[in-house]
Amino acid sequence: MKATIIGGGIIGLSTAYYLKQEGWEVTVLERGDLTDGCSFGNMGYLSPSHFAPLAQPGVVSQGILGMFRQTSPFYVRPALSRNLLDWGLKFVRACTAEHVARSAKPMAELLLLSRYLTAAWQNSGEMNFEYAQTGCINYFQTAKYEKGELENVRMGHDLGLKIKVLDREECQAMEPELQPEVRGGAWYQDDAMLYPNELMRQLTALLEQRSVTILRNAEVKGIQKQQGKISSVQYQTAGETRTIQSDLFVLAAGSWSQPVARMAGEYLPMMPGKGYSMTVDTEHQALRQPCILLEAKVAISPWAKRLRIGSTMEIGAVNDRILVPRVQGILEAVPRFFPAYAKDAAFQKLSHPDMLRKHLREQVWYGFRPLSADGLPYIGFAPKTDNLMIATGHAMLGLSMAAATGKLVSEMASGKPTSMEVGAFGVGR
Ligand SMILES: Cc1cc2nc3c(=O)[nH]c(=O)nc-3n(C[C@H](O)[C@H](O)[C@H](O)COP(=O)(O)OP(=O)(O)OC[C@H]3O[C@@H](n4cnc5c(N)ncnc54)[C@H](O)[C@@H]3O)c2cc1C
Repeated sequence: MKATIIGGGIIGLSTAYYLKQEGWEVTVLERGDLTDGCSFGNMGYLSPSHFAPLAQPGVVSQGILGMFRQTSPFYVRPALSRNLLDWGLKFVRACTAEHVARSAKPMAELLLLSRYLTAAWQNSGEMNFEYAQTGCINYFQTAKYEKGELENVRMGHDLGLKIKVLDREECQAMEPELQPEVRGGAWYQDDAMLYPNELMRQLTALLEQRSVTILRNAEVKGIQKQQGKISSVQYQTAGETRTIQSDLFVLAAGSWSQPVARMAGEYLPMMPGKGYSMTVDTEHQALRQPCILLEAKVAISPWAKRLRIGSTMEIGAVNDRILVPRVQGILEAVPRFFPAYAKDAAFQKLSHPDMLRKHLREQVWYGFRPLSADGLPYIGFAPKTDNLMIATGHAMLGLSMAAATGKLVSEMASGKPTSMEVGAFGVGR
């Protein structure tokens, strides 16, 4: 049986991995050359701690306030777009406490399954990317954010997650060199971190070794259907239009999934959520734990020889603009939480005004998170097309959920019982 996957980001590649394992003959069509994209420059977190979907109470007011501040970590670019309006209405409707309560369990299950499967990729020896299961600390500086975080901790405990609430002294003991300037933190011990650029490189190589066909610079341009099934897909490569037939197609085109779905007569409410990251090599890594600075919504990833700082959620169009105030907002937050970073050589190099002035394009990476309208991914069969499956909409958790998404798609495609209940992620919901 033949399967064709549209999109070679982490979701497409992990789906290829499990479909191949189930015995499918797999082809991946990827518009780019598999050296960059949202699945590369992200923070590398595997986050069972993020069981609450993006659509949650309070997010809408943050987005509205952010519209007036270019340095805000959450920003909706005002635009008269039917797409944004439709997505926005659905998103606002989903921002309720009931939605969070209903979604937390399936989200936590998907995240835990995925972390387990990702660790297995590493532990089995088939890949060897930098991976550490040291947990992640969410730091807060104010009583307001402490209150919100403790609610997340309470829900996390109910879901069986290992979480330790830390006071200021305990936070400082966790980071003896950097002595965070915080009120406290929540240490989510089930979380893990990997280096995504290396995972993407190794997973691509492993798939090719296992005879998965990966067609680079192959952009899907059209879809033909007959009697409710895809009969062929057209893609363009090296100026030529070619056609591919398959028993199964899986749409995993990230933030570009909506226009491709439309080619098959399907509708996916989605918006891109742009985010930035900056990476610098470092000989000495002062930070011990991956962490999130809650008030600033900034994440920091300390790998053995690199430091990555990233954040912001800019909901709007796909474009290549880099908003300097937004980048500055991310960098300025770091020494507010870790004053010692003001004197750290690696951080100084990254945040020096010359970096932003002269090397903006080389130093600042950006990617587009594929945002579904209710904060849960779409995983399953398309409502109107028998041989089309959808695997997208993972927002800020695509890496965290990739392995489980691929596994579930391969199980559903092969008519097997699924490793977990998938109803919450149904595409036509
Ligand atoms: C700053 C930032 C930090 C993040 N940190 C984390 C984190 O720590 N942990 C986490 O879990 N997630 C994180 N994320 C989110 C994560 O990166 C995404 O959810 C994930 O990469 C999405 O993967 P994907 O495969 O769905 O999409 P993508 O990686 O975007 O892949 C989709 C692919 O489809 C291809 N494509 C599009 N259209 C076509 C077409 N017509 N034909 C053929 N190919 C096509 C594209 O070229 C692309 O390669 C972060 C995101 C950002 C921006």
